[in-house]
Amino acid sequence: MGQDPKELWAHCLLSIERQIRPQSFSTWFRPTKAKHFDGETLDLEVPSAIISDWIETNYLSLIKQAVREEVGSEPKIRFTIAAQDQAAPPTPGAASTTTGNTSTPRAESTEVHPALADTDGWSSSLLFTPLNERYIFDTFVIGEGNRFSHAAAQAVAKSPGKTQFNPLVIYGGVGLGKTHLLQAIGHYALARKTAERVAYVPSEKFMSNFIEAIKTRSTAEFQRLYRSADILLIDDIQFLLKGEHTQNEFFHTFNALHQNGKQIAMTCDSPPGELEGLEERLISRFTWGLVTSIEPPDLETRIAILHQKAEISGIALPDDVASVLGNFISSNIRELEGALNHLMAYCAVHHVELSVEVCRKIIQERLPVRSSHLGIEAIQQAIADHFGIAPELLIGKTRKQEIALARQVAMYLAKRLTQNPLKVIGLHFGNRDHTTVIHAVQTIEKKCLQDANLANLVEILSASIQQRQGAL
Ligand code: ADP
Ligand code: MG
Repeated sequence: MGQDPKELWAHCLLSIERQIRPQSFSTWFRPTKAKHFDGETLDLEVPSAIISDWIETNYLSLIKQAVREEVGSEPKIRFTIAAQDQAAPPTPGAASTTTGNTSTPRAESTEVHPALADTDGWSSSLLFTPLNERYIFDTFVIGEGNRFSHAAAQAVAKSPGKTQFNPLVIYGGVGLGKTHLLQAIGHYALARKTAERVAYVPSEKFMSNFIEAIKTRSTAEFQRLYRSADILLIDDIQFLLKGEHTQNEFFHTFNALHQNGKQIAMTCDSPPGELEGLEERLISRFTWGLVTSIEPPDLETRIAILHQKAEISGIALPDDVASVLGNFISSNIRELEGALNHLMAYCAVHHVELSVEVCRKIIQERLPVRSSHLGIEAIQQAIADHFGIAPELLIGKTRKQEIALARQVAMYLAKRLTQNPLKVIGLHFGNRDHTTVIHAVQTIEKKCLQDANLANLVEILSASIQQRQGAL
């Protein structure tokens, strides 16, 4: 049987293209080529082992069906990996699908010239943020909510770029230890010399670095430094903005590092798939490795964390105090720490023993601060009360001026007083888009600058809402 493999595959691609999303098609199928077909076997060439794995896992039956429709039989589908020189280093703007896999032999990247990588400039670079010395594995308390993420982070730190966890994405709520774990990877790798060049950077800094590099025409240096990292740790990727060229740059940085078997680890406040601002091609890359979550700590873990923090400060924390405090603050470890520090400072200043009584006093004092747990509903109720309207009107679609204003103030305060993501706030206001929330926040901020009465009102409402919460 001598059907031309290219022609056969072109027909199959037409059929496949109709059945899957355009983005998936261009990511996974565009770079495929049919190399050989003898009636028994169809050889498909793909640029990397990762692409072949992905296609085999997700699309094999689709391919078989398309081929069957073309040739009337069911030949074996075999994947081969293209010679590495075809995996050219990604250039910005190109619809790149070049990736690497640590298990396939790799050519040295032309992006990261060894001589360049060895030059100075790395350690003195201001592009990256120094690691906080407190954030090491030794001080990280393991509990049910973070056990798996911790294990994955350790595995990555021990063998950067050589595990299945590349990239490693750790997601979870505020103050649950994501940054701590991410930096612990860097500390460990440097201490045990599993990597030489560790780059830690919050995603906003990556963006501003890049924008600055464009302004100063130093993108080559930017790329050289970022792409010569052995481990790139990017914190809070939810802040990578769409349409700023930075996601594109991140995409190519990611590809260049991944292709060279370098480790990438990231954190994020929600599952990557739910991040609205993130390009799909980035999200799909994140799922190549491991995406794992950190859940809020249970009481036992909270108490263990309190004991550990007290010990580091050289203070003996009585069990009953730890228990009261651990019960009081349930979800955010940063706040747990804050309350403990507050308690220790109070005792030091007033020369009193750490006791349950003092602890309760501190808890009372900190109640307004606890407004991070304030519910959006409570805010809506308070605003509705103040404006003398039904809370439903805040959720509804009425555009009447004073209701629209009340709604915007409520959104603004929900943003300011709670830690809910914009998306969640929008959801509470009749499933409005997060951009509507941004707009409301900006509008109120602007109006407050121009209108002292409104500014006062907002401050009073804010204080009274926090007080209400405190009285609960
Ligand atoms: P996130 O990045 O998730 O917002 P962080 O990593 O900044 O949270 O953690 C907040 C604080 O809580 C940090 O001081 C961190 O050291 C501490 N922390 C979080 N999780 C743990 C843990 N499991 N053990 C010890 N300290 C922790
Ligand atoms: Mg963080």
